[in-house]
Amino acid sequence: SLLPSNLYELSREEKNHLLQKLETQYKSIQEEKLHLDITRGKPSPEQLDLSLPMLSILDEKHYQSENHTDCRNYGVLDGLPEMKKLFGEILDIPHENIFVGGNSSLNLMYDVLVQAMLYGLPGGTKPWKDEKISFLCPVPGYDRHFAILEHLGIEMIPIRLNEDGPNMESVLSLVERNPSIKGIFCVPKYSNPTGITYSDEVVKAFCTMKPAAPDFRVFWDNAYAIHDIESPGERLLNVFAEAQQHHCTDRFYIFTSTSKISFAGGGVACIATGEKNLKALKKHYSIQTIGYDKLNQLRHVLFFKDRKTIENHMKKHAEILKPKKDIVVNTLQKYFSNLGVVQWTNPRGGYFVCLETLPGCASKVVTLAHEAGVKLTPAGSTHPYNKDPKDTTIRIAFSYPSTKDIQKAMEVVSLCIALASLQTMLG
Ligand code: PLP
Repeated sequence: SLLPSNLYELSREEKNHLLQKLETQYKSIQEEKLHLDITRGKPSPEQLDLSLPMLSILDEKHYQSENHTDCRNYGVLDGLPEMKKLFGEILDIPHENIFVGGNSSLNLMYDVLVQAMLYGLPGGTKPWKDEKISFLCPVPGYDRHFAILEHLGIEMIPIRLNEDGPNMESVLSLVERNPSIKGIFCVPKYSNPTGITYSDEVVKAFCTMKPAAPDFRVFWDNAYAIHDIESPGERLLNVFAEAQQHHCTDRFYIFTSTSKISFAGGGVACIATGEKNLKALKKHYSIQTIGYDKLNQLRHVLFFKDRKTIENHMKKHAEILKPKKDIVVNTLQKYFSNLGVVQWTNPRGGYFVCLETLPGCASKVVTLAHEAGVKLTPAGSTHPYNKDPKDTTIRIAFSYPSTKDIQKAMEVVSLCIALASLQTMLG
């Protein structure tokens, strides 16, 4: 063990003694000169291998879509019908409402925001760049969402992310009163980084809200729509179906991609949304591109076929990911159960475990780990402007390293948590 169960009863002298012991352990780890990296949610090589057959599924004879489109050539701006159908099955959304893009959903989010900034969105009166606007950002959240907003000069307002989704009382009171709030970023299933899934009530509240801005939008980033690790996985209410009932499908841009289904660098991404948004999107994209990579779409539909085949494929991902997530959770459990110095999530899917340290400790842990050869996502990156006000959040991305490396990394991280907590307690 690293810290005794009577930690809080130790005298200052005893704590100092323990600190010295942990520091000696830390120095000997530093001598091991480790190079471990648990910073980014990337699929591991083994996971990427699961989709290798896709690379040879096309050949000199197979390059035409179902309706005989020559996928080698230009055209079909919004995606092959069979790719729309496949995304429709993944998201349970009518294929008519889907726009298929290139390899990255983040790229599509950026595009939509730039379109909004430069030209405005359906329902609005002017381009967003001509107003002082802001977005709500549930925290902890995904650093790349925040990076896009910051890059475009959109002010970010943090909103607490609870176990069942964003604090909707705050969301509603801000959105329904303040027309300068133009949107919110949501990761509704297995959220990055806390792994929570929005409750039915939260999903419904997004459909019944009455935004003050006529061009208010929800960026519903369903990146982990079918990414269960545990069985059964969690169930997310279908926001599009709810929105149809409330006649507000144009309030939502729903994003997903196959980045963590097939290849993170060579997948296919899409946007699902209402008719008015789709029309505007197609207009903008028709200027931006003649069409995306249909050969890659064809590879995906031939390999994944339908929802059932994809679900079976996702079970193979889960078999690889579960032992890694279990190592993270079990190591924390082994060292810190009932000690109160750190809390952690144990999500049923997705790519991250999220830690909450004592106030003021997260950046210390990250620095200590870094100096012992274990790279963690920089502290603060789960918050807008890299400011985690209490300095408590750490994201662990367990997917990429081998189980052996994760085990080693978590031993080091645990030692760093113990050290930083003790240092903090000693003041
Ligand atoms: N959205 C979330 C919540 C993510 O965690 C990630 C990747 O980690 C992405 C989007 C990136 O998706 P894509 O590869 O489709 O751009």
